[in-house]
Amino acid sequence: MTNQTEIQPKQEVVLTGDRTTGKLHLGHYVGSLKSRVQLQQQYETYIMLADVQALTTHFHNPGLLAESVRQVALDYLSVGIDPERATIFVQSMVPEIAELTIFYSMFVSVSSLRHNPTVKHEAQERGYEDLYYGFLGYPVSQAADITAFKASLVPAGEDQIPHIEQTRRIVRRFNELYAPVLVEPQILVGERLEGLDGGSKMSKSLGNAICLDSSTEEVRTQIRRAKTDPARIHKTDPGHPDICTIYGYHCIFRNEGSEEIREQCQKGGIGCAACKELVMEAIEEVMKPIRERREMYKNRPKDIDEILMAGTAKARKVASQTMSEVREAMGIDYF
Ligand code: ATP
Ligand code: MG
Repeated sequence: MTNQTEIQPKQEVVLTGDRTTGKLHLGHYVGSLKSRVQLQQQYETYIMLADVQALTTHFHNPGLLAESVRQVALDYLSVGIDPERATIFVQSMVPEIAELTIFYSMFVSVSSLRHNPTVKHEAQERGYEDLYYGFLGYPVSQAADITAFKASLVPAGEDQIPHIEQTRRIVRRFNELYAPVLVEPQILVGERLEGLDGGSKMSKSLGNAICLDSSTEEVRTQIRRAKTDPARIHKTDPGHPDICTIYGYHCIFRNEGSEEIREQCQKGGIGCAACKELVMEAIEEVMKPIRERREMYKNRPKDIDEILMAGTAKARKVASQTMSEVREAMGIDYF
C-alpha cells in the first residue's frame, strides 16, 4: 500500500478502471478518478472500462453495458482524463485478458476467493447465497487486467485492497512456477466517500450516489435529503460529527473550515441546513469544471468511439506482448 506523497517519479505503469454498470459518481471521483488525473501527467496510464467485470453481476442485462460504456467514457473525459496521455480501453475487446484469467485460475484456490472480504461483503449485499463462478472469480480476472499491462500502481478505493493482494500472490506464484515475467502491483488507496443514506459507501448499485453529471439543482436536492446525525432534532442540540455523513463531506471537499464546523456542530452552534449549504458550495467547486468539459464532449459520440477504439487497439498490442511472454514462460508456445 502506498500514499500519494510516497510515489517516486520512476517509470510506473498505472492501471485502473470501473465497472460499466452506470454513470460514475462523486465516490469514484474521490476514491480514484482524482488521482488518475494527476498520475496521467507522469506515468504510462491505462484506464479500463470493465464491461466483463460488470457482467459478473449484470449478465441478465447486457443492454445496460452498451449504454454504460459510453457514459463512463464521457465521465472520464469530463473529469479531465486526457486521451492523449492515458489509454482508455474496453475490457471485453482485449481477449488476452480472458486468456490470462484462465491460466491464472489453474493455481488460485477457491477458498482464497471465498475468504476475500470484499467478495464476501458484495455477495451479502446482493443477496447471493450460491455464488456464480464468474462472480467468485472476478479477482482473478482483475489480476489479469493489471498484469497484462505489467502495471505497478493501481489507484483505487479501499475495497480493492484484498483484490490487489490477491494479484500480488498470483504474480509471485506465477514468477516462481515459470519465469519472472509479471510485475507485482501496489495499490494507491483513495479516500472513501459515504453514500447519501449514511449507511454504506457511495455506490452505483445502492442508489445513494451523486452522479458526476448532476445539475446544481440535483446536487442541492440530494444534499438537502442526505442523512445527518439522527439524534439531532433541533438546531441547538449538540451534534455528533463523527457519525454524520455531511461532516465527512466537509472533511473531503473543503480545503479548510472542517475543524470549525466540528466545534460548531458539537456545541449546537450551526444547524444541519446551514452546514449542508457550505458543503454544497464546495461540491459545486468540484463539479463546475467537470460540467464544462462534459459540455465539450457530450455531442461528439463519434469522437468518443474513436478514442475508445484507438485506446483498445493500443491496449491489445501491449496485452498480446505479455501473453506471448506468459506462453513462453509456461512452455505452451508450441509452434
Ligand atoms: P457497483 O455498485 O456496480 O459495484 P461501484 O459504485 O462500487 O459500482 P466500482 O466500479 O465497483 O463502483 O468501483 C470503481 C472504483 O471506484 C474502485 O476503485 C472503487 O474502490 C472506487 N469507488 C467506488 N465507490 C467509491 C466510494 N464511495 N468511495 C471511494 N471509492 C469508491
Ligand atoms: Mg463495486
